[in-house]
Amino acid sequence: MIVSVEKCMHCGACVGTCPQNAIYLTDVMLVFNEKCNRCGRCVKACPVGALTLEARK
Ligand code: SF4
Ligand code: SF4
Repeated sequence: MIVSVEKCMHCGACVGTCPQNAIYLTDVMLVFNEKCNRCGRCVKACPVGALTLEARK
């Protein structure tokens, strides 16, 4: 997951939308853990388009 630090305003909308509880909001940044199954819900939930799924390697 790529987070645009310029766009993200730490609203927390993506955290609440994740069915895997894979997103944590800290004081300074968003953290995605290994539970992420790339469902894309957080990407759609972000009101400012700050999230981008990376291409699977
Ligand atoms: S892609 Fe899905 S599982 Fe991964 S962090 Fe976003 S909402 Fe959670
Ligand atoms: S929904 Fe978007 S703006 Fe809000 S905390 Fe998540 S990445 Fe940042």
